[in-house]
Amino acid sequence: MNRHARPGSGFVNAQASRHATPEGRRGRRGGEVTARRAIPFACVALLALGGLGSGFACARERTPAPLRRPDLVFISIDTLRRDHLGLYGYGRDTSPTLDSLATQAVTFENAFVQASWTLPSHVSMMTSTYPLVHQVDTERRSIPETLPLLAESLQAGGYRTVGFVSWIYLAAKFGFARGFDRYHELLPPPRLRDRSSKHSTRAHAVVDSVLAWADAYAADGRPDETPFFLFVHFFDPHMDYDPPLEDARRFDPTLESTEDGTYRALEPYIAGLHGTTTIPESLITRATALYDGEIRYTDREVGRLFGRLRTLGLLENAVVAVTSDHGEEFGEHGSMEGHQWTLYDDVLRVPLLISVPPRMTEAPPGRRKEIVESIDLAPTLLAFAGIDLPASYQGRALQPLLEDAAGGARDGRATSGSSDVDDWPNRSFAEIGRFVVRASLRTPRHKLIHTRDTGGANRFGVPVDTGFQLFDIREDPGELHDRFDPADSTSQRLSVELRAWIRGRGAPEVVPEPVLTPEERERLRSVGYIGR
Ligand SMILES: [Zn+2]
Repeated sequence: MNRHARPGSGFVNAQASRHATPEGRRGRRGGEVTARRAIPFACVALLALGGLGSGFACARERTPAPLRRPDLVFISIDTLRRDHLGLYGYGRDTSPTLDSLATQAVTFENAFVQASWTLPSHVSMMTSTYPLVHQVDTERRSIPETLPLLAESLQAGGYRTVGFVSWIYLAAKFGFARGFDRYHELLPPPRLRDRSSKHSTRAHAVVDSVLAWADAYAADGRPDETPFFLFVHFFDPHMDYDPPLEDARRFDPTLESTEDGTYRALEPYIAGLHGTTTIPESLITRATALYDGEIRYTDREVGRLFGRLRTLGLLENAVVAVTSDHGEEFGEHGSMEGHQWTLYDDVLRVPLLISVPPRMTEAPPGRRKEIVESIDLAPTLLAFAGIDLPASYQGRALQPLLEDAAGGARDGRATSGSSDVDDWPNRSFAEIGRFVVRASLRTPRHKLIHTRDTGGANRFGVPVDTGFQLFDIREDPGELHDRFDPADSTSQRLSVELRAWIRGRGAPEVVPEPVLTPEERERLRSVGYIGR
């Protein structure tokens, strides 16, 4: 279905926030979003906006082709573990499309989301705010109207905006459609509960819908030469792991069905529901192969999408960003389905690729090791569009890193000569609060997790260890050995920083509640959300 935007709803006027780059984000934000070396980006924006005097500013632009603002393609693949992709070193051939994209993109080694489940993580992406600010950490809340969304800023800035989503947590009723000219909720009809529906819409159907729009858009000759913003959300790698069997059998030829990837089969091994359990290794093996099959299948569909967009000429001038809203756990910490329960790197550290048209950058593809956050995505895309950031944004544009990918490939530290890069804060914060209340701070070396004492048990009565955990990521990347010690200086320093961050977050006063139908609640329940 199409949902039309509510223009201006909750929008902070971009002009009013001109040069009002949010100050003091974690006390370190520095100045303008455009780095010294990012002249081509500024150039494109100035020319597109008809800025006087842009000829001088753009004297270093080499490409004679007509300049206009870039199209923006933003793809979120749900539940996509970074370390299950070839471009991040996975041994299985799960991601040939994304591996290929990485050869033309900047690949972020340390990208982190702000929450470990779909709804709050996507709200953080689209509003560039932490969960403690947007407070959408339960299906009983929707995006506060006071927080402008990425699409609203782009729409107000002259972009055509279109979105395609395949799961209810991205639905208009949670506020996500604001700012989209067309917002396609590709959700299965109520009560369609056959296994093939997976309670969400398959990647091939999502791509079919996107390509129907793309074909029409291209056939219209790009109306008014207006740049477009295309957002596409795929849900397939989320449980149930129910891919086309041939995609899973590529990784485990002994598989005869997808039964071991269903929520029904895996639910008994969710520690948050049942306490500590012993997960059969054979089950983990089969579930992992099925999960990898979902990735392979989705990657193929993303390849079909890219191929057609390229044929239509819609990628020539496009910045392409691909990421995920969270990862997943397969027994690494004694549980299946860690997402929405834990804040380990398995669920917070996600893939992030950003491809910039060659005419817009002199920097080669490369890799960055700085810590970046999903709240940085919206500022980055607005910077490409030449649109000022809303004052409420808490993320920072990644242009300084994108322009210096070669420096990042060396060691990710102070190699650039750019103060924007050298002063990069290298911090990520995350928070969840629905089933268990946790917050985390990630630095290049450490992860600190705090679990609040809510009566010694989680919402389901399962005992929870509360207080702090500290992990040395360099020595213990699996986060298995808690080293928190109140007498230790690192423990003290990081716990002070995390507490200060929690205290320093403001929150809106009014958080509207969406109305879910009984069918929608049942659909959520079927894959492990609400009302277990
Ligand atoms: Zn998700």
